[in-house]
Amino acid sequence: MSGAPQRVVATAPGKINLSLRVGAADERGYHALATVFQAADLLETVEARLPQDPGALTLTVDSRVRGDVPVDTSNLALRAAALLRAETGTTQGAALHITKRVPVAGGMGGGSADAAAALVALNRLWRLGLSDRELMLLGAGLGADVPFAVLGGTALGTGNGDQLQRVPAPAPLTWLLCAPGGHLATPEVFRAFDALAAQADAQPPRTPRADQHQLAALAAGDREAIARSLANELHEPAVHLRPDLQEILSALREHGALGAIVSGSGPTLAALVRDAQHGEEVSARVREDRGDLECTLTRSSPYGARIVAVD
Ligand code: ATP
Repeated sequence: MSGAPQRVVATAPGKINLSLRVGAADERGYHALATVFQAADLLETVEARLPQDPGALTLTVDSRVRGDVPVDTSNLALRAAALLRAETGTTQGAALHITKRVPVAGGMGGGSADAAAALVALNRLWRLGLSDRELMLLGAGLGADVPFAVLGGTALGTGNGDQLQRVPAPAPLTWLLCAPGGHLATPEVFRAFDALAAQADAQPPRTPRADQHQLAALAAGDREAIARSLANELHEPAVHLRPDLQEILSALREHGALGAIVSGSGPTLAALVRDAQHGEEVSARVREDRGDLECTLTRSSPYGARIVAVD
């Protein structure tokens, strides 16, 4: 095949935070984090084509989930394209098309996955030759979850979540993801975290530490111990803003989930289940009371953003 593709398709995963510890905010208001990310086999797809008009950058979106996705220059895939052009000096254009499957503003990093897939697809379409590491560094400028969407697998994130270190997690995990409708804006959840900490006179640590028990449970592939270790310090502020999340979490546990947490800043809830059949049973029971829940079964994925087609 020639070295000049006309069309490149890339996918990138949504993420689940298996643990999320939150530290003090810096002067810009960004919080230090220690989080264990896991990629889900719930993928965003970005198709990048060379456009009719050579320098044009355009975007269309086909969303399979609820929620409004911006199609203007604030869309993270278009911002990724603009950043790549600014950094490399290329003037090439692209017609981008996103197929969305990750809940919008759901705490699963869907926009970040779009940015990661766009970076990987355009790097190839425009023949820029950047390494994944360089794409991760660029991606960090777009959002703290973008580097992980490039890397994938299971990783410890520190700094603002953008300093990554792979962690061994040999056992594939099955997740039931339930989106309760509506959304939570990440900055609002962090503001609620700060307000609740101030109210309780609590001082979040300057540098939060990773949960070593969780890392050991992941390395051992011990599902029960992993389930026990699921913990999210954004749980309280998310539930403060959306009290119904607590009821759904309790229902997921009562109906047999091994463990359940708010995913990232919510409101998507992630329940660890034994396998797909168990997940279907838990989902059916929980949805008897909350028919409005959109529940999807997925597995952990070893992959980050990757090219799936080139023509
Ligand atoms: P976060 O990474 O902040 O936890 P999230 O997973 O909760 O994000 P996203 O779906 O990534 O939520 O989107 C958060 C907001 O970003 C949306 O409300 C939307 O306005 C904006 N946005 C920009 N680009 C995208 C995109 N490609 N897909 C979805 N939302 C986007």
